[in-house]
Amino acid sequence: MHVFPGLALSRSALGYSRLGPDFLTELAPEPAPEPHWVAHSEACAALLGLGASWQTPEALALLSGNGPEPGWASVYSGHQFGVWAGQLGDGRALHIGEIEQGGQRYELQLKGAGRTPYSRMGDGRAVLRSSIREFLCSEAMAALGIPTTRALCITGSSLRVRREEIETGAIVTRVAPSFLRFGHFEHFAHHGLLPQLQQLFEHVLDQHAPECRDAAVPAAALLEKVSRQTAGLMADWQAVGFMHGVMNTDNMSLLGLTLDYGPFGFMDGFDPGHVCNHSDHQGRYAYARQPNVAFWSLHALAQALLPLVPGEPERASEPLLAALESYRESFPTEMLGRLRAKLGLVAPLPQDKELADDWLKLLAAHHTDYTIAWRRLGGFDSGAEASNAELRDLFVDREAFDAWAQRYRERLLAEASIDAERRQRMNATNPAVVLRNHLAEGAIRRARAGDFSEVERLLKVLQQPYDEPVLASDASLPPDWAAHLEVSCSS
Ligand code: AMP
Ligand code: MG
Repeated sequence: MHVFPGLALSRSALGYSRLGPDFLTELAPEPAPEPHWVAHSEACAALLGLGASWQTPEALALLSGNGPEPGWASVYSGHQFGVWAGQLGDGRALHIGEIEQGGQRYELQLKGAGRTPYSRMGDGRAVLRSSIREFLCSEAMAALGIPTTRALCITGSSLRVRREEIETGAIVTRVAPSFLRFGHFEHFAHHGLLPQLQQLFEHVLDQHAPECRDAAVPAAALLEKVSRQTAGLMADWQAVGFMHGVMNTDNMSLLGLTLDYGPFGFMDGFDPGHVCNHSDHQGRYAYARQPNVAFWSLHALAQALLPLVPGEPERASEPLLAALESYRESFPTEMLGRLRAKLGLVAPLPQDKELADDWLKLLAAHHTDYTIAWRRLGGFDSGAEASNAELRDLFVDREAFDAWAQRYRERLLAEASIDAERRQRMNATNPAVVLRNHLAEGAIRRARAGDFSEVERLLKVLQQPYDEPVLASDASLPPDWAAHLEVSCSS
């Protein structure tokens, strides 16, 4: 299929679709009226090798769900909020093909292209509001260097979609080497479909983890790989103050990618107990709980992999439990590494963990803005007489800050740190701009009135998160009205 000039969108013989009807259903998208472009990411287009003029009428038809070719939706299951939820699946996502570029195969998926056999009670649609959030955050995370699915574009339509109120429908074209989730394995294991479980396993090994084949217990090697990738992802999220909001096992990527952007949030005033999803009444997915929830989800994955361990069934859990231990070892290491970098430290010293923890305690005690505090710390003057007034002013208890600052000063001295160089390092690690709710909300309000320019502007700012933005307000405290913004699972 040659929708994009000079580039083939294919159904590769190696892709997931070859696995057949036990794994997916082929179907066409449901057309949407009056399709139009809302926004696109040049960076994602470049990743796919799309030329400058890829936004043809044919591409618009395809990416708005009005194309002629069928796609496919996959089945998975999962645990939602800690409880087995049974069969789920791509209820509103349709895979439309693959593009091979730079030695990597990318799947393209339309999110919001209509009902599938896995839609359950849903309408198969996504609204403009949530599509803008997913689009911007995918590209923002990529620019922050955090593993994520990507977003090529948003197309809009005049389709009316009912949520709490009537909104208009939109589609995000998502891009990733694979959208496979922990829940794909859980599905076949839970339903006792062992030949299919084995087939899925072979596919994952072939396409995403060939090195695990040579291990003594390939299933354990795969689990260890996923555990380590997930540990790295959790460290990335915690370090930047990102909260996913719905860390159900069906939203956990087998490739360690940030996946399924819904009621996510970035930390404003630091509160480890913060819950960004207003539908999460128990606070299961609070900021501070994310690393443990990921570990819990890895146990659910381990359970699903159990039938794939050869030998005596009574002893099958042993290699998997050993593989899970790698998370316990790698998460703290990864996290401390991120914190050291955020503190601008180069040579590790034993006291670093306490220094970092006490800084975070200071932020929590004062509810200090997470992004601003880290960014200002980059400008810390380690001179004995320096007052660091701009930074110090972020804390009500100035003496508590002074006491910590003195320890930081000594720590910097211990590695003969040079302020200007450290600042440069820290500014490349501690972003000036993250996608705070109110920034997304500003773009959404204008887009709903038909003006997409703020989406494009914000995208450009988020693609350079380590630069001071032209508009200081992109990097400043949320305005008072933002305190009333609520994000929920409704999307
Ligand atoms: P989420 O929590 O948004 O990742 O979605 C959980 C499950 O519900 C997945 O199987 C989704 O495909 C499905 N889902 C969510 N929203 C809709 C919708 N509007 N229509 C159909 N399925 C949906
Ligand atoms: Mg999901």
